[in-house]
Amino acid sequence: MVEQERNSSGNNEEPEASRLGMESVGDILRRVQRNRGGKFSGQTSPAQPSQETRAEECECDTCHEKFPGEVTTYYFTSPPAYAYGTGWREDFLSREVRSKECPKCRHAREEEDRRQEEEENEVHRVVIRAKWRKVCGLPSGLKCTRFDDFEPAYYRSPLKLCRDYAKNFNVGTPQGTPSLLMYSSEPGVGKTTLMVCIANYIIENWRGDPHDTTCPIRFESGPGLVRRIRATYNLGPDRDRHEREEDVYAELRGVKLLMLDDVGKEQPQSYRFTQEVYWYIIDERVKAGLPVVVSSKLEMTGPGSLEELMTVDAVDRLFGMCRGQRVNLGGTSYRKRKLIP
Ligand SMILES: [Zn+2]
Repeated sequence: MVEQERNSSGNNEEPEASRLGMESVGDILRRVQRNRGGKFSGQTSPAQPSQETRAEECECDTCHEKFPGEVTTYYFTSPPAYAYGTGWREDFLSREVRSKECPKCRHAREEEDRRQEEEENEVHRVVIRAKWRKVCGLPSGLKCTRFDDFEPAYYRSPLKLCRDYAKNFNVGTPQGTPSLLMYSSEPGVGKTTLMVCIANYIIENWRGDPHDTTCPIRFESGPGLVRRIRATYNLGPDRDRHEREEDVYAELRGVKLLMLDDVGKEQPQSYRFTQEVYWYIIDERVKAGLPVVVSSKLEMTGPGSLEELMTVDAVDRLFGMCRGQRVNLGGTSYRKRKLIP
């Protein structure tokens, strides 16, 4: 509206004024208002933008090539802070900002920034991986701890299956990953070795956010875990210093990959107790949608089977989590083949 009024009066006045080399009324008003330090708002003076951007040829600070850039002019309605004490002059009323980096140099700089950031991240990851290997509970003393150390002539298919499992396990999105059940009736056929290889592969190939340092894997021996939980039931007078049942479960809860080795190797004092423990663990994993890798020499059903150890329901759910797949490791002991005592 103001614009229209100004224009309607300007239509009569301004051509005459400029012909005589005079300032138009609009210009005078704007200058006066500016010198008063008055505020231009879009409403009272639409002809005076607070900033204005135009395309113009600019020079790159880095390669000194000319390139089509942007020039933005900022108009101040009162002098900017740095103008105080300098004797405020008209030239403080506007400020020009020009593009200083050509697209090629910007792209190269951004690439370099990314590369440096990734390099720093990788340095952090090396430290984190070493920490994870230490805290995740891997058994020590194994000769073979990487898939590449494994003698591939034997168990070719389980080895590939386990390697693929580790390859497909995504630490960032573990929910929905199938579980894995490894079976062999004989001891020493490499179940533990394969599990350790899976854990090491996942840790070593992790390329995630180095600020998220929670260890994604928990490796437990089945019998050790049952013993630990049983120990929480027999607390003496120093019970405050002792680990509680809830502490043990809290450690397993939410871990992205839970690995339970040698499940059923224990001679259960009471099946009721192991059933409670395993049912609870499996149930928690199912509810969280998180996988578990289990190794056992027990058959699924029958006397002294996984069903007896864990309950029929827990085994059903575990088998479901494995999508009906069980890795069979048979034949000659891997320890014997590798001459590992
Ligand atoms: Zn450049």
